[in-house]
Amino acid sequence: MRYDQLLVRYGELTLKSGNRNTFVNQLKGNVKHALIPLTGYQVHANRDRMYIHLDENIDVEEVIRRVTKVFGVHSVSPVMRVDKELATIQEAAVLVAKDVDEEGRTFKVDVKRSDKNYPMETFELQQVIGGTVLKEVEHLTVNVRQPDHKLTVEIRQDAAYLYSRIEKGAGGLPVGTGGKTLLMLSGGIDSPVAGIEVMKRGVTIEAIHFHSPPFTSEEAKQKVIDLTRIMAETAGEIKLHLVPFTEIQKTIHKVVPENMTMTSTRRMMLKIAERVAGHIDAQAIVNGENLGQVASQTLGSMHAINAVTAMPILRPLLTLDKDEIIIKAKEIGTFDTSIKPFEDCCTIFTPKNPKTNPKLEKIEKFESRFDFEPLLNDAIENIEVLTITKERPEENFSDFL
Ligand code: ATP
Ligand code: MG
Repeated sequence: MRYDQLLVRYGELTLKSGNRNTFVNQLKGNVKHALIPLTGYQVHANRDRMYIHLDENIDVEEVIRRVTKVFGVHSVSPVMRVDKELATIQEAAVLVAKDVDEEGRTFKVDVKRSDKNYPMETFELQQVIGGTVLKEVEHLTVNVRQPDHKLTVEIRQDAAYLYSRIEKGAGGLPVGTGGKTLLMLSGGIDSPVAGIEVMKRGVTIEAIHFHSPPFTSEEAKQKVIDLTRIMAETAGEIKLHLVPFTEIQKTIHKVVPENMTMTSTRRMMLKIAERVAGHIDAQAIVNGENLGQVASQTLGSMHAINAVTAMPILRPLLTLDKDEIIIKAKEIGTFDTSIKPFEDCCTIFTPKNPKTNPKLEKIEKFESRFDFEPLLNDAIENIEVLTITKERPEENFSDFL
C-alpha cells in the first residue's frame, strides 16, 4: 500500500476570499517549514487545495503527523494515484477502503469524472467499484445517504486518484497572516499555551521574559529558551527578549509595602513590555493570566496592573480551568519543560500575603515615591535578544537597540 500524495484542505481560509493568495502562500511556507528536515516531497498549492507529492521512500505517516499540526490546515487525506484501467482502479479502491478506521461500517463510492472521454459513466463506475469493495472488504456495507466513509475516485486526464481516510488538522489560520503580538513568557505552564492559542488565529509572536539573576538561575533562563523552541516548531522562528529585572525588583521591595509588591512587579513588567511591543511593531500583548487563579489574577489585580497601558492585552486562557490548560500544554509538548522546578523571578520574590484587591490610587502613590524611569530605561537598554528556531540549536545574539 503506497500513497502518492496528500490532499490538504484549507478550512477557514475559504471565508477570507479577499486575502486568499496571501493566506495560501503563507500556509504553503508554513507547511514546508513543518516538514524540515524531511526530504522527498513537493508542495503545490492552488486557491482551493494543496497537494503534497510524495516520493517513494518518504514516511507518509510522518508527513501526515506534521502537516495536520499546521494552523490553517483543516484536514488531510492520503491519495493513491493509479492507471485508469478499471481492474487497477478496483484493486486500489479495495486497498484504500481497508485503510480507513474499522469503527465506521458503512461506505459510499463517490466518482468524479473530469475525463469526459472515459469509456464508463459515473453511475456505472460507482456501482462497479462499490460492488468490488463490498465483496473484498469484510466489515463494510453500503449506505449512500449517510455513509461513515466516503471513497472518492477522481478520474482525471492523466490518471485515477483515490482517497478515503480523512485526518483532522489543527484548524485555525496560518501563522503570519494576523499581525504580531508580544507574549509575556514565564517558565510556567500557562504562558506558552497562551502563545500557541493566539498563533492558532494566525498571529505571529515574539516573546519577552523577565529574569533576576543571581536570584534566578541559568537553568530557569534555559527553560524559557527551551519553551520558546517548542513554540517555534509552530512558528518558524521566535525572537525572545530577555529583560534583566533584578534592580527593578529589588527597588520595588524597598519602596512598596510587601503585600503590594506583586502588583507593582506586574505593572513594571507591563510598562517594559509595552515599550518593547512598540519597538517591534506588535499590536497587542499576550499573557497567560487566568481569572481567579492566584492573587495577581483577580479582577481587582488585573485592573490595577492593566492601568499602566492602553495597549490591548490578550488573555486567551482567561476562563479556562487549570486542568483544561494542562491538557493543552501536554498536547503542544510544553508541559514537561514547564514543570521543571527552576524558580522564576516572581516565585522568588512572592510576598506572603499578596493583596487580592489592590487599590490603584494606593499603588500609584507608593510607586511615585521613587523615580523608576531610569531603571526601566536601563533594563530596556540591556535586553538580550535571542532568535530561536526549531532546527538550529544555537541562537543569534543581538542587541535590542
Ligand atoms: P504561568 O504558568 O504562565 O507562569 P502562572 O499561573 O504562574 O502562569 P503568574 O506567575 O501569576 O501565573 O503570571 C501570570 C502571567 O504573567 C504569566 O502567564 C505570564 O504571561 C506573565 N509573567 C509572569 N512572570 C513572568 C516573567 N518572569 N516574564 C514574563 N512574563 C511573566
Ligand atoms: Mg508563573
